[in-house]
Amino acid sequence: MTAVAARPSSFEVLTAPSPRGGIRARLGRVALPHGVVETPQFMPVGTNATVKSLDPDDLEAAGASIVLANTYHLFLRPGHERIARLGGLHRFMGWDHPILTDSGGFQVVSLADAREIDDDGATFRSHIDGSTQRLTPESSMAVQEALGADVAVAFDHPVYPSSPRAEVADATERTHRWAERSLQAHGRPDQALFGVIQGGLEPDLREASTRFIAGLPFDGLNIGGLAGDETPPQRREVLDVVIGLLEADPRPRYLMGLGSPGDLLDAVLQGVDLFDSVLPSRVARTGQVWVPGGRLDLRSAELLDDPAPIEDGCECLACRRFSRAYVAHLFRARELLAYRLATLHNLTFTLDFMARIRRAIAGGRLQAALPELWLRAGRTVTGEGATMAGEATDEPA
Ligand SMILES: [Zn+2]
Repeated sequence: MTAVAARPSSFEVLTAPSPRGGIRARLGRVALPHGVVETPQFMPVGTNATVKSLDPDDLEAAGASIVLANTYHLFLRPGHERIARLGGLHRFMGWDHPILTDSGGFQVVSLADAREIDDDGATFRSHIDGSTQRLTPESSMAVQEALGADVAVAFDHPVYPSSPRAEVADATERTHRWAERSLQAHGRPDQALFGVIQGGLEPDLREASTRFIAGLPFDGLNIGGLAGDETPPQRREVLDVVIGLLEADPRPRYLMGLGSPGDLLDAVLQGVDLFDSVLPSRVARTGQVWVPGGRLDLRSAELLDDPAPIEDGCECLACRRFSRAYVAHLFRARELLAYRLATLHNLTFTLDFMARIRRAIAGGRLQAALPELWLRAGRTVTGEGATMAGEATDEPA
């Protein structure tokens, strides 16, 4: 018998999809070194090792079980070696639950100046101080191993969904070569490694990328290059190709960058297990809070006399303790508490929405719960409401 080293993560499907009405939603559980993540699940984004304006107790109260931190940002500031010297990312940010770090590829493409991508890696100017920096599959793995998240992601070359076919094909091929190099370079035994499927909106390139990445021994499969400028029907078509090929694959599927309740539900129904986005926290800081049926603008004057909570029955601090009038006043006065309360509410709303979906799947009543879930997400008809342009990108520094 050959001994095989146990992987640092495992995925169990608790309720297999019953593809009635084309629904591929499934209930699962990802076991990681720092805890268990129930899926379908949403990961709040802690760009600079903090979800803006929240502390770890706030994140727990909002229902977060895993957070994402950005490799690109932490590599540039304060530096992965410093974080490693200080005991690793969990200790550094005071979060003892699972963490996933992304590959850095998306930020290189979307944030950095003067980037040049060659077959070996990416050279770019830091958006913070203009210094010249370089990331390769090998250095991205080294940075992520030093940070020490539960899950690292293979270095990839994303492109916007609407990019010309030749550009998508080129980036997808490069992503495949970089996936193999990332696997080769990754050695940390207590850290899982997920691979990224690219392929843009081209069905044949998506199919080839799904087959290639799924053929490698990753612990999970990310679906990249979406949540950009594609329409919801285009996204559905891509997911149909990808998930269709992964039906018998035992690993979790993670769609990067999606964050509005309607988009999340749409993708869960197609069989996606994990999500992340800055959307709930970013829109909160502009005074937009999610309520059943849509958004409420806390900057609107009519809320200044509204004694009701943001959302009746919501268990977040903002709703338990304060009125719309108070939070609206805080936004007008630009008080710091405004950002914390609105962010707490939006993340609580999002994570509670995912919990509602999980309960419906567990109870075998997802189909019956759909009208109520769509209503809560602010959509009466599926297909409306793409992620707004720019909102799926990374938070500014
Ligand atoms: Zn609330």
